[in-house]
Amino acid sequence: FEPWNDPQAKPLIQFKNVTKRFGEFVAIDNQTFDIYEREFFALLGPSGCGKTTMMRMLAGFEKPTEGTILLAGQDMAPIPPNKRAVNMMFQSYALFPHLSVWDNIAFGLKRDRKPKDEIAERVAQMLKLVRLEKFAQRKPHQISGGQRQRVALARSLAKAPKLLLLDEPLGALDAKLRQDTQFELVDIQEKTGTTFVIVTHDQEEAMTVASRVAVMDDGKIMQADTPANIYERPNSVYVADFIGDVTIIEGRATKNGNGYDIDFAEGQPTLHAESGKDFQNGQTCHLAIRPEKVAITADKPDTRNALKGTILDIAYLGNLSTYHVKLENDQIIKAQTANTRRLSRRSFTWEDSVWLSWTDTAGVLLEG
Ligand code: ATP
Repeated sequence: FEPWNDPQAKPLIQFKNVTKRFGEFVAIDNQTFDIYEREFFALLGPSGCGKTTMMRMLAGFEKPTEGTILLAGQDMAPIPPNKRAVNMMFQSYALFPHLSVWDNIAFGLKRDRKPKDEIAERVAQMLKLVRLEKFAQRKPHQISGGQRQRVALARSLAKAPKLLLLDEPLGALDAKLRQDTQFELVDIQEKTGTTFVIVTHDQEEAMTVASRVAVMDDGKIMQADTPANIYERPNSVYVADFIGDVTIIEGRATKNGNGYDIDFAEGQPTLHAESGKDFQNGQTCHLAIRPEKVAITADKPDTRNALKGTILDIAYLGNLSTYHVKLENDQIIKAQTANTRRLSRRSFTWEDSVWLSWTDTAGVLLEG
């Protein structure tokens, strides 16, 4: 499922040079991108980067200051929120406390004066979808937080919107329930085939649920790509740093073979990274390396990306241990080892002198 790589695929949503200003303040800065049918698209980014503003424009609560938003090829500007094939589910769920689960789910259908049997059938379908058949007659205060979340989801899907917007939908759930619910959300999204756009602060959540993650900064989508590409092939230091753990080494690039030599500090060896990017000789570059790609050994390894350092910090995380290793030039490099075989490995301790190494393809070379 990669419609974004299929030239025949028709986008469900198109942002064309969309800018949103509040007075002088630019909340969304000239953004052009597509979201495809059946996608689970996540907007991820720090507080204030414009995620909610994106959602509110999709819902129709805000109008772009410039540019166009199309839904299924149609300009949404003249279409009010309640006439859009779009629904929004809020973090608070906004369930009606005095109505039963059944009546909450039926609410929008009743308001649209759908025939009674059609409503009954649809509500039954939705109750089944979210596995709440047995709770139909309960009131919201008589069910758990996770169940309320599912009622809210069922209610927002009852009218079969083309697009469902979810603003921090799992924000009210505790960590364990939240994880289980993420998988459930994906399952429900796949079953209904509805396009979901989710806003979340939680990068793990975005990576778990989304077909593509859009990493935002300052009113711009920096990269919109599959979770694997966002992690393995970030397009900027910002994205590499925002997602997961990483070491960034700043240096100067010199073309060599399929990549570049990188000189980063006096007295430190020249590193090498394969890269298809274009750097001028001597241009500043940033090498981004994930900690799990860095091997840590007592003896000097037989590879050109090998640096000597001293262990500064160790975090034991059960399945993994993370090391912070300081080089002589004070650069800190993060390394992570899997704790697979108990006691069988040589383990390192504070102040140990160690070698760090990685392959030519382990790091990603970035401009800025
Ligand atoms: P958070 O994660 O904190 O919810 P966000 O990424 O959703 O943040 P937005 O709510 O989209 O961010 O806000 C983006 C920027 O636009 C913020 O700097 C915010 O202060 C500003 N902004 C949003 N709505 C308005 C408004 N109605 N008037 C003025 N400024 C606004």
